[in-house]
Amino acid sequence: MTREDQHAKLLKLMESRCDDLPLCQVPQDIVIGQGNLHSQIMVIGEAPGAEEAKQRIPFVGRSGQLFNRTLEENGLARPDLYVSNIVKVRPPGNRDPQPDEIKAYLPFLLEEIDLIKPKLFVTLGRFSLNFFLPEAKITLVHGVLKRIRWKGRIIYVLPIYHPAAALRNGKLKEAFSQDIGKIPKALAYIGQRESQAEQIESIKEALF
Ligand code: URA
Repeated sequence: MTREDQHAKLLKLMESRCDDLPLCQVPQDIVIGQGNLHSQIMVIGEAPGAEEAKQRIPFVGRSGQLFNRTLEENGLARPDLYVSNIVKVRPPGNRDPQPDEIKAYLPFLLEEIDLIKPKLFVTLGRFSLNFFLPEAKITLVHGVLKRIRWKGRIIYVLPIYHPAAALRNGKLKEAFSQDIGKIPKALAYIGQRESQAEQIESIKEALF
C-alpha cells in the first residue's frame, strides 16, 4: 500500500471513530495532517482553529499564514513539510486542548508519525513540545535542537513558539522567525550525524 493509501485509510478510520472521540460531532470535523507524506520534517501544532476546521487542513488561518510566510522567508515551503496537530478536532472557542482530548487523539498522531517517519520533528507551541518532552518549558528550549530517546529510539525535536503567540507578541515573533530559520540547519546537522554513524558502522564491519 502506498503512503497516500495509508494516509487515506487513517483518515477513514478516524472518521469512523467520531462517535467515540471527544470534540467530534460529525466525521467531517476531523482534520488530519497534510502535506508531503515523504517529508523528512514533521511539524506538529496544537489543534485546528475555525479556518482549519472549515477547510479541513492544518494551519491555513492567520497563524498558518504567518507560518507559511516565515517558511518562505527561510527558503522553505509547505509542500516540503508534513504538518499536523496533537488534537484533530477544533476545541470550542479555540480553548486549550484538555488532557483527555490529547490522550484520545494520541494513537492517531502515533500512526501519522509511523507513516511519515520524519528525521526531524518541529513542535509549534507547548502542547506538542510537551508531547515529546513533558517537563520542558518553551521559553527556555525554543530554537534548541533536542536529540532525545523517545519510545526506544533516538529522535530530533526542534521546539518553536506557536505562530499564534508570535502574532500576539512582537518579541516572540522575532524568535519564531529566527527559530524557523534553524530548520534547514537542523536537518543538515542530522544528515551529517547519520552519515558519520554509518561510516563508523562500516569501519567496525571492516575491522571486526
Ligand atoms: N493552530 C494550531 O495549533 N493548529 C492549526 O492547525 C491551526 C492553528
